[in-house]
Amino acid sequence: MSRGKKMVEKITDLMNEPQYIRNIGIVAHIDHGKTTLSDNLLSGAGMISEELSGKACWMDSDEEEQARGITIDASNVSMVHTVGDHEYLINMIDTPGHVDFGGDVTRAMRAVDGAVVVVDSVEGPMPQTETVLRQALKEGVHPVLFINKVDRLINELKVDPQEMMIRLGKVIDKVNKLIKGMNEDLYNNGGWKLDPMKGNVAFGSALYNWAISIPYMKKSGVSLQTIIDKCNEGDAKYLAKTSPLHAVLLDMVVTFLPNPLQAQGKRCHIIWHGDVESEIGKAMYACDSKGPAAMMVTDISFDKHAGEVATGRLFSGTLTRGMEVYISGTAGKPNRLQQVGIFMGPTRVDVDKVVAGNIAAVTGMSDAIVGSTVSSLKEMTPFESLKHYSEPVMTVAV
Ligand code: GDP
Repeated sequence: MSRGKKMVEKITDLMNEPQYIRNIGIVAHIDHGKTTLSDNLLSGAGMISEELSGKACWMDSDEEEQARGITIDASNVSMVHTVGDHEYLINMIDTPGHVDFGGDVTRAMRAVDGAVVVVDSVEGPMPQTETVLRQALKEGVHPVLFINKVDRLINELKVDPQEMMIRLGKVIDKVNKLIKGMNEDLYNNGGWKLDPMKGNVAFGSALYNWAISIPYMKKSGVSLQTIIDKCNEGDAKYLAKTSPLHAVLLDMVVTFLPNPLQAQGKRCHIIWHGDVESEIGKAMYACDSKGPAAMMVTDISFDKHAGEVATGRLFSGTLTRGMEVYISGTAGKPNRLQQVGIFMGPTRVDVDKVVAGNIAAVTGMSDAIVGSTVSSLKEMTPFESLKHYSEPVMTVAV
């Protein structure tokens, strides 16, 4: 059996167990390393070959699939990562790094429950860091922090361990101030405060494929001095092996970011203003796969084989091939789902059904547009319209 097939089985098993799913986005100021990080996470987690990471993102060796020419949509990807003795399915939605695409950031944030905020350790938080973080927090998305380009602190700025701690501490303080300013209650009581001792902050080098967090330092024995020495010796490969980027980052994601069952109970009131006591309300708050289907479309792409593919977050119910769904704002005639899929690495894979809590990719919804509410019910209060915050207001001095 090919590795690709095994991965399909793993993913199709995991997608039915929402407690083992994390839906995340990566948000960053432009050039702080979001693309490098995403590509290296995917290849580190074994979802694309290392030689190709950063290039076309073709996932792996399954020649049958290559021959059939399945189109890759790199804006929605998934990974499998093991923590303890369990595997987790991590769905990652791409967010554009430029403020002009503020609306696209908001739409991605609607589909996810957690965000990895990437900040360049040399530049520190920039205006777009605040803008994208603001968009994430407004959507009720839980943040963790990755401080990137630490190799530059060592190789270019020649910091010692103490200076490194001070610089990293300043970045953490600035991001914490932004988070606290946005929602003091969740900062104090909801686990949004960034605390390196707890482990919801990691730092490293996306380019050289290593990262570290305080919990991972304890686990791996890699100290700040080791990191500085190995960078100075030009031996980033040692760090990539003992403290790999994907392991540290995805451990942090699994440990600190909520699963859909936890997140939906807390987020639904932000994104949907219908009756909480209605059948659909209860199903969405509980992420119930047996309830009526409710999906928010966050992306429409074109696949040369399948045609238009609508991707979005399924908040309740189950989508199956052939099922009839109603699209908000259209004349009431249902659309019939043709293919129902999920993502494996950067590839869309057809499955029989997708349950609540997943990012689903479906064809056949010719009436859907980005932002559409899709439901098995003829009448459903639509999700709140997508708003974005394009005015960067830098409240913290850089
Ligand atoms: P994006 O705009 O946030 O997607 O940023 P990119 O991933 O395209 O990275 C911007 C630039 O920073 C590229 O030239 C990368 O090679 C470089 N870069 C990304 N991560 C690192 C890092 O950890 N260390 C160093 N030195 N350069 C990096």
